[in-house]
Amino acid sequence: MTAPTVRTTRSSDLATRAEALFPGGVNSPVRAFRAVGRAPLVLQRGEGPHVWDADGRRYVDYIGGWGSGMLGHAHPDVVEAVGRAARNGFALGATHPLEVELGEAIRRAMPSIERLRFTSSGTEAVMSAVRLARAATGRDMIVKFAGAYHGHADGLLVEAGSGVATQAIPGSAGVPAATARLTVVLPYNDLAAVTAAFAAHGERIAAVVVEPVAANVGVIAPQPRFLEHVRDTSRAAGALLLFDEVITGFRLGAGGAQARFGIHPDLTTLGKIIGGGMPIGAYGGRADLMELVAPAGPVYQAGTLSGHPLSMAAGIATLAALTPERYGRLEVAAEHLELGLQAAAAGANRQIAIARVGSLLTVFFRPSVPHNAAEALSSDRAAYARFFGAMLDRGILLPPSPFEAWFLSMAHTGVEIDATLEAARAAFAA
Ligand SMILES: *Cc1c(COP(=O)(O)O)cnc(C)c1O
Repeated sequence: MTAPTVRTTRSSDLATRAEALFPGGVNSPVRAFRAVGRAPLVLQRGEGPHVWDADGRRYVDYIGGWGSGMLGHAHPDVVEAVGRAARNGFALGATHPLEVELGEAIRRAMPSIERLRFTSSGTEAVMSAVRLARAATGRDMIVKFAGAYHGHADGLLVEAGSGVATQAIPGSAGVPAATARLTVVLPYNDLAAVTAAFAAHGERIAAVVVEPVAANVGVIAPQPRFLEHVRDTSRAAGALLLFDEVITGFRLGAGGAQARFGIHPDLTTLGKIIGGGMPIGAYGGRADLMELVAPAGPVYQAGTLSGHPLSMAAGIATLAALTPERYGRLEVAAEHLELGLQAAAAGANRQIAIARVGSLLTVFFRPSVPHNAAEALSSDRAAYARFFGAMLDRGILLPPSPFEAWFLSMAHTGVEIDATLEAARAAFAA
């Protein structure tokens, strides 16, 4: 139960009713705000860079639909596209023209994706891509990196980040030990560990699953040569390389992290931005691999609502608005935010380290940016919780966990960023 409040507001009433309905009062763990020790917000409206709670209080939003909101909330083009699609019916149960349109837009932007399949979530996309990798190689094991989050399928929920990083769930209860044993977990950015894992298990590894920029234990940039080493080592051993670009796809430019770093993965998973805030996921890659998916091949995977026309419409309108000029402006805005936060912390004599890759940013309360999950997790959580609260009280909504990326959108202008920096100067001083 929530603590008794002096005055019942609409938000607190809804939060109490939610507590009685949903585990922890939420339908996804991080929304409970437990890592920051505040009452969870009930948000009922978003427009551009802002969200409003159920009491009408406005915040500058850095949760950004957990990365799905690249254009900001309720972008007119997206609202219009979804409305138009809705008038033609929702789930028609056969191939829809909008599926073809979004699929082609994705393939144009990411040439490693020769064929793809839409799902309803990123979790399903990664789970299905791993099944495909196992079928294609005839091998059982997968390699992932500590702190990386690839959705909540059993085999990937081993030393995972995101909500798992703060919920103290060791992997997760309910994951069979036999499943977890098929997942090898390595430290991110550790080239020698990759070499050693392949020396030990090379013949059994179906795929390496990697976030090309780790963004679920705070932002961790790949060190020079790390991604190349993963690609070369996996290829030499006959294993597949799966880039999980559910966050980075269309965020670090239209070609995703694979274009930014010049790496050609065998398989890619997408989600979040490609649905413009509607439920979505996708996996794709080499045509010879994707031809193994049913009904073309023997790997079964399906979805009643896959390729949903409203998600397709929102995705098409979103990708169409992601012009090179807008990516350029976003980069400038993100750099302005990073430098301003550095200056605000320095002005108050606070020791922080900011990790930023494009519009993904984390303020770590530790002396240097982390290179792996263990370093990230050693940052000062209590200091982040205080900072979060001080910012919230000033109308700035940061992610309610020290280990989630701040998601800047293309709707954030200098006005919102300056308001954020003004709040940060006061919050760091407090
Ligand atoms: C969010 C996320 C997922 C899971 O996507 P859902 O749509 O939440 O199931 C998978 N991989 C990465 C890298 C993510 O950030």
